[in-house]
Amino acid sequence: MENKPPLEDSGAHGDLVDLSTNYSEHETRLGMAEHERNRLAEITAALQKIEDGTYGICSACGQEIPEARLNAMPTAKLCLNCQSKQEAHY
Ligand SMILES: [Zn+2]
Repeated sequence: MENKPPLEDSGAHGDLVDLSTNYSEHETRLGMAEHERNRLAEITAALQKIEDGTYGICSACGQEIPEARLNAMPTAKLCLNCQSKQEAHY
């Protein structure tokens, strides 16, 4: 893997790129189940955020999402606070 885009820090971002690559190659061959498509869409959205420079920013409150959370869930769009608020609505 030498073809990674230039990213400021390694860790979660690099893993995410690898994850996305694995998914598209693997799942296209097998045919994607619905939840896998959703997951790929989340990864794609996260990659788009990396390109836009908004990766790791909560899309609800604009605060930075803690790195520990991103490591655990690289596609997280919301900080823990906003996530739990949103889940409370359902
Ligand atoms: Zn938030």
